[in-house]
Amino acid sequence: MSGRAVLATGATGFIAQHVIDKLLERKYSVIGTTRSDEKSSILLKNFKGKYPDANLSFETVPDIAAHNAFDEVFEKHPEIKYVIHTASPVNRGSGKPFEEAFLKPALDGTLNILHGIKKYAPQVTNVVITSSTAAVRNPAIASPSTVYTNESWNPIKWEDVKTEVDAYAASKTYAERAARKFYEDEKPNFKLATVNPPYVLGPQVFDSSLGKVLNFSNQLLSRVFEIDTATTEPQGNYPALAIHVRDVAEFHILPLENKELESEREFIVGAPIIEQKILNILNDNFPELRGKIAVGDYDSANKLIDELCAKYDISSTVKKASNYKFLSVADAIVDTYSQYLLKYGLP
Ligand code: NAP
Repeated sequence: MSGRAVLATGATGFIAQHVIDKLLERKYSVIGTTRSDEKSSILLKNFKGKYPDANLSFETVPDIAAHNAFDEVFEKHPEIKYVIHTASPVNRGSGKPFEEAFLKPALDGTLNILHGIKKYAPQVTNVVITSSTAAVRNPAIASPSTVYTNESWNPIKWEDVKTEVDAYAASKTYAERAARKFYEDEKPNFKLATVNPPYVLGPQVFDSSLGKVLNFSNQLLSRVFEIDTATTEPQGNYPALAIHVRDVAEFHILPLENKELESEREFIVGAPIIEQKILNILNDNFPELRGKIAVGDYDSANKLIDELCAKYDISSTVKKASNYKFLSVADAIVDTYSQYLLKYGLP
């Protein structure tokens, strides 16, 4: 089993928990990093409840941006063969300056882990870094006619950052660019892949991780509760691309198992989504929400998506992934709300 040991950073995260869930299901041994022993204990209990024989342990890395943050972990665990780096700030509203809140942890965290591998873990064969569609396209600029591919890059410059949305997008862009530059300059022993998903939707692995306020990306689904329930107008707000969280987790593991993907920039999308579509899915599947959320103009959803959502071509990555079939984004939305309604009742 020691030949299949994975270091997974940011283990408390929404996506990381799904990654770890899949890794344990496939009998990898996993070393997760969290910011505190307390967080590690909760995760260990949850995962051991699901996988009693799991080879799972945790290390504490209080701040990925701190100098040499991961060095001790690599020194202590010479068995680590694969690294999946998902840790990066996502949440908004911390009140900190943008550079401290987003850029430093994203950029320095990424470089810290790569330098740690170089210094202490030459045995590592594969590194997978969670980047984002925010590094592919500028989410603040609507350009529904452009077709984005895994060769597209968000041109954002840090000096032009004005909002938290910009700061997050720039942090992901700068971190991914820095990782690729490190790779070119240092020519390390390992292969480097990135995962570039758009809005990640879906339930939490454990009901106990679900908060009354949904995690940042699932909050896209909460916004429809703010729409006037009486409206019959088409709801074209928040045109976005989305993907099921379990697909995102799968694409973190595929580069370890499929040589075609070991160096891929995995820009992946499940489906485009818009508020009218979310309303339709919720109204179709949850009779208890009728009258509590708007109906809007049911038949307008596909036209709105066509007119307002970004276009993309992900065929080359999908082909390398053996013509991967993405899970339904509608199912992700239904599963998210099923878990929420069961735990908290109507919002
Ligand atoms: P999440 O639930 O907020 O997870 C973020 C993880 O990073 C948490 O474990 C968090 O630790 C950790 N973290 C953040 N800053 C840190 C720091 N300075 N030091 C140590 N740990 C730190 O978010 P997520 O949605 O799972 O996102 C995971 C990754 O996917 C991120 O790289 C994000 O940019 C990327 N991504 C997400 C989406 C999406 O829609 N969700 C889309 C594209 C890309 P704590 O739990 O202790 O705060």
